[in-house]
Amino acid sequence: MGKNTIGRIVALLKKEYPKAAIALRYAHPVELLVATILSAQCTDVTVNRVTGSLFRKYKTVDDYADADLKTFEQEIRSAGFYHTKAKNIIAAAGMIRNKFGGRVPGSMGELIQLPGVARKTANIVLFNAFGKSEGIAVDTHVRRLSRRLGLSRHEDPEKIERDLMKMLDKKEWGRFSYLLIEHGRNVCGAKKPQCPACVLRKICPSKRLFFP
Ligand code: SF4
Repeated sequence: MGKNTIGRIVALLKKEYPKAAIALRYAHPVELLVATILSAQCTDVTVNRVTGSLFRKYKTVDDYADADLKTFEQEIRSAGFYHTKAKNIIAAAGMIRNKFGGRVPGSMGELIQLPGVARKTANIVLFNAFGKSEGIAVDTHVRRLSRRLGLSRHEDPEKIERDLMKMLDKKEWGRFSYLLIEHGRNVCGAKKPQCPACVLRKICPSKRLFFP
C-alpha cells in the first residue's frame, strides 16, 4: 500500500469523523499523563469516571509524587491493574519532580524514561499536550485496522508504528490514531466489522474476508 492509498483513507475518515479526537478528559499535561497511564486495558469512559474525582484531590506533580500508595490504589481501582498503575503514576510523578524540574517533559526520549510510559502513551501526551508528533500512537484499534487495511503486516505495535510513519505525512500522524479509533469503535469492530456500510470498503483488502 502506498502513500496515495493511505492519503485516500485519511481523507475518507476525516470526512466521516470530522471531530475525531482524544476522548480522555484532562486540563493540563499532568492530568493527561495520568489519564493515559490509567487507560491501559481500560475504556476511556471508565478512565473519565475515575479521574473525575481523582483530579479534584490530586492537582500537582507533588500531590501524585507524595500520594499514599495504598490509598491511591483504591482510588483508581476500577480502572484495573491498579497495583501497577498506582505504582507507575506515583513513580512517574517522582521522576518528573526530581529529574525534569516538576514539568511533564516534552520529548519522546524523556517521556519514555517515565515508569509506565511506552511509545503509545508518549505519543498521546506529545500530540495532545504539546502539539508535537514524534510517532503514531498504536492502540488496539489502530493495530487491528492497520492490519485489516493492509497498512502493516506486523503484530507488534512498534513495528506497525514504523510502517505507518513511513507511509503517512508527518502532519497527519497525531490525528490518524483518532480517525482509526473512531472507525474501529463505530464500524470496524474486532468481532463484527460492518463492511457493507464502511466508507473504506472499496479500498480495504480485508472486506472479502468478512463478506466474500
Ligand atoms: S471494509 Fe470491513 S474490514 Fe475493511 S475497514 Fe471497512 S469494516 Fe473494516
